[in-house]
Amino acid sequence: MDKNFKAEILKLREEIHHANYLYYIKDIPVISDFDFDQKLRKLENLEKNYPELEDLNSPTKRVGGGVSKSFETKKHNYPMYSLDNTYSKKEVSDWVARVRKVVGDDVNLSFSCELKYDGASISLTYENGNLVQALTRGDGIQGDDISNNVRTIKTIPLVLNGDYPNFLEIRGEILMPKKVFEDLNKRRENEGLPSFMNPRNTASGSLKIKDSSIVAKRKLICYLYSVISKNDKFSSQSEALSKARSWGFNVPKEVIHAYDLDSVFIFLDRWDNLRHNLPYEIDGIVIKINNIELQNKLGYTSKSPRWAIAFKYKTEQTTTQLNGVTYQVGRTGSITPVAELEPILISGTIVKRASLHNANQIEKLDVRIGDFVVIEKGGEIIPKIVGVDEKRRSKESLKISFIENCPDCQTALFRKDGEANHYCLNLYGCKQQIIGSIQHFVSRNAMDIEGLGGETISLLYESGLVKSIADLYDLKERDLLKLDRMADKSVSNILEGLEKSKNQPFNKVLFGLGIRYVGETVAKKITNSINSIDKLKKCSFEELILIDEIGDRIAESLIDYFKSENKLILIDRMVSSGLQFQKESNDKPLSKKLNGQKIVISGIFTSHTRDQIKQIILENDGEIISSISKKTSYLIAGENMGPSKLKQAKLFNIPIISETQFIQIIND
Ligand code: AMP
Ligand code: ZN
Repeated sequence: MDKNFKAEILKLREEIHHANYLYYIKDIPVISDFDFDQKLRKLENLEKNYPELEDLNSPTKRVGGGVSKSFETKKHNYPMYSLDNTYSKKEVSDWVARVRKVVGDDVNLSFSCELKYDGASISLTYENGNLVQALTRGDGIQGDDISNNVRTIKTIPLVLNGDYPNFLEIRGEILMPKKVFEDLNKRRENEGLPSFMNPRNTASGSLKIKDSSIVAKRKLICYLYSVISKNDKFSSQSEALSKARSWGFNVPKEVIHAYDLDSVFIFLDRWDNLRHNLPYEIDGIVIKINNIELQNKLGYTSKSPRWAIAFKYKTEQTTTQLNGVTYQVGRTGSITPVAELEPILISGTIVKRASLHNANQIEKLDVRIGDFVVIEKGGEIIPKIVGVDEKRRSKESLKISFIENCPDCQTALFRKDGEANHYCLNLYGCKQQIIGSIQHFVSRNAMDIEGLGGETISLLYESGLVKSIADLYDLKERDLLKLDRMADKSVSNILEGLEKSKNQPFNKVLFGLGIRYVGETVAKKITNSINSIDKLKKCSFEELILIDEIGDRIAESLIDYFKSENKLILIDRMVSSGLQFQKESNDKPLSKKLNGQKIVISGIFTSHTRDQIKQIILENDGEIISSISKKTSYLIAGENMGPSKLKQAKLFNIPIISETQFIQIIND
């Protein structure tokens, strides 16, 4: 009996690993998402029942969940070197000449040319085809063990295929794709959080997050390009890469094997153009002597291999003078310092301004007014200030003292301990905040109201017609027609857009309110467990943090928001205008069976998915909460529920029922 289960577990793991490999590395999806999820769930179930068959490299570990208190520092088996680098082709030729001096003139030299991925380097160790360890580069001699986080990266195989060696170390780069980075920042902006600087730092920062389930959501990818194996002796880098590919590693396709320096230069030029179209960032090309015997002959300096060189692309940089700093007020009241620059041409556009992000950044750069600053335009559209030319600093340069009052409404700014941003807290009297919050409300991901662009909103505000989001719904045709530059057509567009927006579901409306830290996802989570604004208004802090993924910070922000008399009036007016402040009718409960019941679910279920169980609870007017308290009505326990939940349920004497019992209650 047990044997069968063991075989089934092993079979499922293999099937899932294989499907993962085909999907993420070969780019050929073979099974549907649904089938994939089914298999995974089945495996999860079996694993819960047979903890003795636990495997750190089971595909079920991909979602993360383990929390690391700290990352243990460990010594690398082989040091992780850096690379000599250059920006000139001349120096590449010089390097080849140096190589020739060591290996002689009569040997055939050929080169492996590879993209230089701009991320965080990683060293992976496999024993008998199993991932056993993942270390960061650290200082090159020792790095941090981030194995649990790395297991969540889908382009990293947890088990290998084919004729892999018993012991294998392989190195590569972990990257955050540009698109993932942009989306992440958009989300953070929506939630009123400061944005991340660039994909590289975000990738390495993500790898050090303690909760691996958050790492899993960061959608990191990994390319591997350097194999170290005790047993296998490869004859060349190209051979090592193709072997690694056959074992299931995500080895870059863009590698070429170049037989002379001219071909190397062609490759360098080609990627100088093409790199902007890549979905991730590279900062150059790595050129390696292909033959391993020659590599060994060349050896290493104390810092880097003599058999390789990195040719780096110049990010366009230029220097210009900082004329002053202005300050922008965001819709959440956050203040962004903006560098006003002496206009300068870079990458084909004239740049006049660049963000200085926050007071910390100003301090870090130690930038002063009158300074010559180095600005850079990388892959991104917005230029950055990356440094100051201190040699050109004049005595007249002026230290920047961050403003103390809002540039818009003069209110004294507030900065919470430990936070980077300054805020203007005058929500109702600060023009930029009001305009910003109206713009947010009508934006695509919120109410999606056509016909209301940024300028129109400023116009409506200046004219006195719209001072808050609730005013939008009181707009009359005749008022709008009186405005400058407002044609019949635009007026009817606006009114139609507003009318249509009354159908937007509760979660969009809630997001549109612009409550700090309540982004799109959070708004959905909230409306999934609390289905009307009336209930939400009355929620206590304790009740709020019971909602999935709602932590202290968000809960506090909600409480603050609903404390405000002004906000409550605003909401009442919008309710009267007919906006959706409860979950739509098709989500209305089918029955009232679970009315007033606060239900926790835990573990894995056999005949329903967790989402199905949640759906059933909502359909019957119950409320789902994420952790157990005195107020919990009961706990639906699947297989192998978390031990802490079980303990708490016992502590508070909360009834525990099974999936079958729950379905009986519903069907009764
Ligand atoms: P640097 O940090 O500038 O000394 O460059 C060395 C780093 O480049 C290595 O530690 C790797 O993380 C990274 N790198 C990116 N792509 C490659 C590649 N194809 N081959 C070798 N190293 C690479
Ligand atoms: Zn203000």
